[in-house]
This record gives sequence, structure tokens and C-alpha cells, in this order.
Amino acid sequence: MSETQSGSRKLLGRLKQALAEPAEGQERLDRITRLIAEEMATPVCSIYLFRDEDTLELCATEGLNPESVHKTRMRMGEGLVGRVAASTKPINTGNAPSEAGFRFMPETGEEIYSAFLGVPIQRLGERLGVLVVQSKESKPYSEDQVYATEVVAMVLAEMTELGAFIGEGAAMAAPHQHPVMLRGSVGQEGAAEGRVLLHEPRVVVTNPFADDAESELVRLGEAVDKLRISVDEMLTSADMTDKDQRDVLEAYRMFANSKGWKRRMEADINRGLSAEAAVEKEQTAARARMEQVPDPYLRERLHDLDDLSNRLLRLLTGQGSHTGVEMPENPVLVARNIGPGELLAYGRGLKGIILEEGSVGSHAAIVARALAIPLVINCERITTEALNGDPVLVDGEQGIVHLRPEESVATAFRDKMAMMTKAQERYASIRRVPATTVYGPTIRLDMNAGLMADLPSLKSSGAEGVGLFRTELQFLVRSKLPSRGDLAATYSRVLDAAEGRRVIFRTLDIGSDKVLPYMKPQDEPNPALGWRAIRVGLDKPGVMRMQLQAMIRGAKGRPLSVMFPFVAQFDEFRVARRRLLDELDREEKMGHVLPEKVEIGAMLETPSLAFAPRQFFEMADFISVGGNDLKQFFFAADRENERVRRRYDTLNVSFLTFLEWIVMRCNETKIPLSFCGEDAGRPVEALCFAAMGFRALSMRPASIGPVKHLLRRSNLAEVRELIDDARAGGAQTVRPALMDWLRQQG
Ligand code: PEP
Ligand code: MG
Repeated sequence: MSETQSGSRKLLGRLKQALAEPAEGQERLDRITRLIAEEMATPVCSIYLFRDEDTLELCATEGLNPESVHKTRMRMGEGLVGRVAASTKPINTGNAPSEAGFRFMPETGEEIYSAFLGVPIQRLGERLGVLVVQSKESKPYSEDQVYATEVVAMVLAEMTELGAFIGEGAAMAAPHQHPVMLRGSVGQEGAAEGRVLLHEPRVVVTNPFADDAESELVRLGEAVDKLRISVDEMLTSADMTDKDQRDVLEAYRMFANSKGWKRRMEADINRGLSAEAAVEKEQTAARARMEQVPDPYLRERLHDLDDLSNRLLRLLTGQGSHTGVEMPENPVLVARNIGPGELLAYGRGLKGIILEEGSVGSHAAIVARALAIPLVINCERITTEALNGDPVLVDGEQGIVHLRPEESVATAFRDKMAMMTKAQERYASIRRVPATTVYGPTIRLDMNAGLMADLPSLKSSGAEGVGLFRTELQFLVRSKLPSRGDLAATYSRVLDAAEGRRVIFRTLDIGSDKVLPYMKPQDEPNPALGWRAIRVGLDKPGVMRMQLQAMIRGAKGRPLSVMFPFVAQFDEFRVARRRLLDELDREEKMGHVLPEKVEIGAMLETPSLAFAPRQFFEMADFISVGGNDLKQFFFAADRENERVRRRYDTLNVSFLTFLEWIVMRCNETKIPLSFCGEDAGRPVEALCFAAMGFRALSMRPASIGPVKHLLRRSNLAEVRELIDDARAGGAQTVRPALMDWLRQQG
């Protein structure tokens, strides 16, 4: 063992002793600063900890004026200490006063110390404070001293996590105990109160010290071997056909076999850390790098390394799987990201979901929406801040999360939830009555669905039928292409559950954001404008035909409604429709029973289709406006892009005028028209669509009550007059005028 290794082992050994002795938090910190100063033969050692997100406080010192403890404070980025905290990188200088940002703090009795070494106290991306040593010598600290200080800082971070410095004279606030409010984006509306269930619980390193370096090295070696084998097994497994997944695993393999990674961890063990602490030290360093790397590709690779470190920690500690973790009451799932299959495995028991990443159109979001579970996405820091069992409030309406909320916040939130429940009760009372507006007409309200699990909502919501059944979920949640038999059985069960109500099956709408795990991903510059939906179906007739056969067989003689998504020109519809008719012929010849009646419709999701020849409108049995896509193409604003997706109002007069045009085209040929995008489920939007002439709307089941409630109280002629006045007056959107009017109506 080298001299430096034995030096830091000795320091860690003494630190371990100091921490093992019973003491209050402040006393412990005081002892530690004394001990470090002694061992490093340096006159000053100080510990600064975060008081709040932006303020560092001197919490213990050896060598500076003890009076300044808990008085001297600085902001993030202020002075050298603040710079270390902000950059999460050490500063080591032999001439501190000449360093950018140096600030003399006379209250600390600080003489001018030339040498300054500050290292961040951080744990897995969470900044906790700064550890500083200073001396009068005008040369920087040696590399070994820097290393020893970093190791001590890491142990301090671990002990902080374990609450070692909390107590009388509170040196610091306990981590993970104070209330935090985090802002994300709306993934699925709704509100929930519950307790955190971490998808991948964090591993707590309970002993950062190596009692016996040799045995720790063996433990690390064995765990790394197991890790390599598991990565190899995943790579050779039969369902590894997805290129992205393969790329990730290849990156895992590269890291798992990286000699540098293992060597650095071994060196940490030789310097006195336990195997798990060594893994975590490397992981913390990787996270700190992750924050600084602007290149998204490199960031992803660092994410991979982070995941791999978690796996290694789980192997070493046996912690981290859900075994042994009790499912809390009213669980709110917290994850960095999650696949649709994993989410479905948790099922409807979840009260809410919070994701650190994710996007509105991600598969997880689609499933959360199908299960009607409030979802907040892009919620930064949630996986670092939340612990299993923490109380949490999910405000899916605003995309806000309150972790460990104060009682006053929780009470206000509960009031809001109670109001929402009251409203639900009011909606339940009108479940069986039609959505007849004042002086007529009646608007047909259907629901959107995508899973078997959605079907019970048909009865509870009062929907007349299913206006859009998104069939891709059956494809998305599987690891391989489902068979025709499986699909036919699913479609049949859907029709059973609908008990004679109409269900419109939309053929596979994949591509763009919806990528099948077993489909070769397309590298397209603009996936939303690329090879998707009916374009894939027409170019790859095999899957489309298989699905159409499954629909015909699943109908078992009952009426069948099929809708083709994303039709941009007449010919696409003509060819797809012909295919369905051909399949009907073929099935008949094979002796299968045919549906009693077949309706074939198209989704109008591209502006071009609104200008299709009259023959298209004569041929289609019905048309449904896919407003989510139609709006993104009408305004040229990506529905997935947080920066622009809310930029244009659905009630913009141009869009409403366009919808009026579509209504007019459909009325010319008396073809039934509906609107099935998300906007149909927003009461004010739904009211305007009805005023523009839509007589059928399809929406999430939870929206049927609120939409019906408003429609039944509104006079469409008055609303239309208001819209026409706003248009004539040059308004950009009719929303302000409409909201004023609604307010007047009470
Ligand atoms: C739409 O585009 O409005 C629609 C209903 O389809 P999806 O959201 O599945 O693309
Ligand atoms: Mg669409």
C-alpha cells in the first residue's frame, strides 16, 4: 500500500471512530474539523452547509473565529466557497486572494491565508455543502491532500444522508425532511394525495468505511463480475431486437468492462472506503459531470453509467428492489422514466405518477392517461429529493408536486380535491341524461379508450360509445408483435364489454412518438411529419391486413367500425378501404362469419384532407377530427415541444374558421363528423366546437361529466353569435369574450 493510501486510511479510521462515539450533531462536526486539521497538519478546516437552496452557512470550524459559526453566510457562487458549491468542482490554490471571486470575511477572524482548498460535499447530484482547508503556505495542496479531502467530503455526505449531524444546536436541517415544491409539466390532469413509491428505490450506504480493504476488493470484484454477466445475458436475450435498447446495453457493457472505472473504485477502497461507498463516489462524480455536459449524446452515456452504478450498488447491498419495500397506502410512483409495460404492471392501484423526464406523448404518458392517473412529467430533482414513504401531493392540473408538504398546503390541496369530488358527484347525477343544449341540439358524447381496463368507464362516465379506440397500446406494451388470434380475442372482449354500444377501432397509429419496441426505429429528421400511421400501414400491408382480419374475426357477427388514422389524401383512404373490403371477401370465402354491418371512416388530422375532392366525403362513412395532430400541423407547432405546444389557442379564430369549413364539407354530403382530440374534453373548447356545428365529441371518460354539464346549460346560438362577433371584431381568439360571457352566466 502506498504512503498516501495509508495516510487517507488513517484519516478515515479516525473519522470512523469520531462518528461512532455518541454525540450531538454540532459536536460531531466540531470534532471532525479538528481531526481533519490535525491529520492534514493544516491550521484551518471549516465545514459550510446549505441552509436553503441558495445559502451556505459556516457550520463548524477549526482555526477561524468560533463566534462566526452559524453567522457567516454566503450565497451560491459568492466567494471561493460559493464558487465551489456552484461549480461542484474543487478549488485548490496557493494564492487565494488573487482568485476570481475571493471575498475577505473579517468576521471570521480570518487572517489572509494564501492556500485554499475547497471541495464540494455532494451526494448523487445533491449539493449539501463545502469542506474547506486553509493554510498560510503560498502553495496549493498536494494531489494526495486533495484526494483525502474529497474522500472525507464524501463520507460527510453519506453521514449527512444518515442524519448524523442533526440534533441539539442543529448544525443542519435534516435532509429529505423539509417541504419542497417542484414544478414540472402536465402529463395527465387530476389531483392526488399519497405516499412516495420509488420505482427504483435509492440505495442507502450505511457503512462508508472499509474495515478490511482486502475483503472489500473481493466484494467489488465479485459484484462487477455479476454485473458483466447480467449485461451480457440481457444483450444475448431473445427479445433484444430494438436498436436503441441494444445501444444502451452496449454502452453498459463498455462501462462494465472499463478498467479505468474499476481501478478508480479499487483505489478508493485502498484509501479506506467500503466497496459501496467507492461505487457511490464514482457515481457522484459522474452525476456532477452530467450536469456540466451540454452534448445530449454524452449526457445519455453518463446516464447509462449512473444506471449501471445503481445496479452495482443493488448487487453489493441487496437493497433497492421492491422486495421488502412495503407498498404504501395511496402510492404515488416516482421514477426518472418508465416504460409502458412496467407502468401497466403497477396497475390502477397508483394514485399518481411523477417522472423526472418523460414527455406528453411518451408511452408512459399514454398509459397514465388511459388509466386516468394524474401525471406530472419533467419534474426535475424529484428522484433525488423523494424518499420511499414521503407524503406527497400531485397537482396534475398545474404540473406541480408538493413533497413533504406543510399542513397548511396540504389542507388547501385537500379543499381543492374535495371541490373536484363534489363536482364529480354533480356530474354523476347527469350521467344518464343526454347532452342536450338549451333549445337543442343534442351532442353525442363518446369516450376515447385504448386498454381493456378503460371499458368499465363506459358505464360510469355515461359515454354513448367509444369514439376512438387507440389500438396501438396493445402493440406498444408487448415485447413482440401480437398474433392475429390475440388481437381478435382482445377486440372481441372490447365489444363484449361495450354491450352493443358502438366502438370505433382505429387501425395501428405508430411512428413519430409511438415506436414499437420490436420495430426497427427510423432515423427521420422530422418524425411527426414522417413515416407514420396509415403511411406505414400502406407500405407494410402485412401488419395492416393481419389487424383488419383480427377486427373482422373479433366482431363475431356484430357491427364493426374501423377508422384509418392520418389520412392526407383521398387515395390513401381509397386504398386502405379497399384492403378492408378485400379482407371481408377473403374472410367470407374462408367461412368466417362477417360483421352484421361495417362502417369505414377516416381521421382528419392533416389540413390537406379538409380540401379533398367531394368523392372522398361521399365514400367515407364517417370522419373524426384528430385535433391533437390537426392543430400541430395547422399552426406548425410541435405537440411534443413544451416551448411551442401551448403557444396557439385552440379557440384562435383561424382554427375555429377552419373547423367550420370542415363541418361545411361534411354537411354537404351528410357525412357524420366528430372531434376526438384532447381538446374535445375541455368544456369551453367542446362548447365552441358544438357552436361551430360538431354534433359528436369523443374524449377521456373523466371529461364527459364536465363537458355535458356545460353543454346542457348553454345556448349554442348565443355562443355562435359571440364567436362571430369576435371574428368580425378582429379578435385573435374568442376565449376572452367567451370567458366573460360564461362568467356572466354564472
Ligand atoms: C389526434 O391526433 O387528435 C388523435 C386523437 O390521435 P393521437 O393523439 O393518438 O395522435
Ligand atoms: Mg393523431
